[in-house]
Amino acid sequence: MLIRSGWSRRFEDAALSQAQIVFAIFAVMAGYTITGAARSAVLLPFVVVLNFGAFSIGWRRMVQLTVFALVVMGAVIVWMHARWPGRYSTVVDLSNFLICMITLPGVSALAMRLNSLQARLKQQRLDLKAALDRIQDLATLDDLTGLANRRRARELLLTEVTRVDRAVQPFSVALLDLDHFKQVNDRFGHAGGDQILRRFSEVARASVRSVDTVARWGGEEFLILMPEADASHAFEAMERLRERIAVLGVTSAQGDMHFTFSAGVAGHRLGQSVDDTIIRADRALYRAKAAGRNRVELADNANDIQK
Ligand code: GH3
Ligand code: MG
Ligand code: MG
Repeated sequence: MLIRSGWSRRFEDAALSQAQIVFAIFAVMAGYTITGAARSAVLLPFVVVLNFGAFSIGWRRMVQLTVFALVVMGAVIVWMHARWPGRYSTVVDLSNFLICMITLPGVSALAMRLNSLQARLKQQRLDLKAALDRIQDLATLDDLTGLANRRRARELLLTEVTRVDRAVQPFSVALLDLDHFKQVNDRFGHAGGDQILRRFSEVARASVRSVDTVARWGGEEFLILMPEADASHAFEAMERLRERIAVLGVTSAQGDMHFTFSAGVAGHRLGQSVDDTIIRADRALYRAKAAGRNRVELADNANDIQK
């Protein structure tokens, strides 16, 4: 009841293992004093009692409890013989004590071995979990920017399509490509280019809603997945981002770097594949580039060549 009611949670040993072991030691020894000629049989539970501690008690405590059990047993036997001289066989009690002296430490040692085995298993499980998390990160995040990588973006897109086909909610996709990035690299070096990619990622992530995903689609191309946003809302969101980026200065050793991006936005159409949606966004992006860059274009303009 103490355990079930949660009362024992206030103790480190919430299973009350030690209290139960101590109680059981006294109970076994009480049985020993009242069962007369059958008393040797009463000792059998002793073997089980110490196993209680196998999973929760440290080895130091287990040694203490084992010694404690033997001391209690010795004291009880001495007391029995002093209280009722001649009533009990000394040979039986002495051999019982010797057997316990050999068996109990053995059982405790076994219990402690189980204990350390369990601790090791637990640690291994934690290590494995950490390794899996790390692998998950490596497999889904982009090194340079910390954004979702292309693989992760594709997964999310596919999930979104299944969700949308069930719930009839729109979602939109934007493809972004930084403008004249080769020139940026030429002017500020590859490190400067990297710095811009990271800064852009930060600003983009901070600009979109928390349900949106910004992913690095390729070198200086990004994909933004906007669940529950129709094309016109997505367009507005990208326009806002474009304006923020256009006035952004990234400080570098060679002075302030400025850059822009072009984007194509497409609203997903029910029943179509993700690839179709991406292709439509890509065509719009192409149009934004052709129209002079630093622009956002909506897909399905008459100028988009339909396949
Ligand atoms: P446009 O406006 O037409 O997009 O011009 P652009 O120069 O950006 O065209 P393009 O897509 O051909 O060039 C992309 C450049 O981006 C080429 C490559 O050197 C650079 N790039 C790709 N990935 C990285 C990267 O991780 N770091 C850096 N610094 N540069 C990169
Ligand atoms: Mg490009
Ligand atoms: Mg580019």
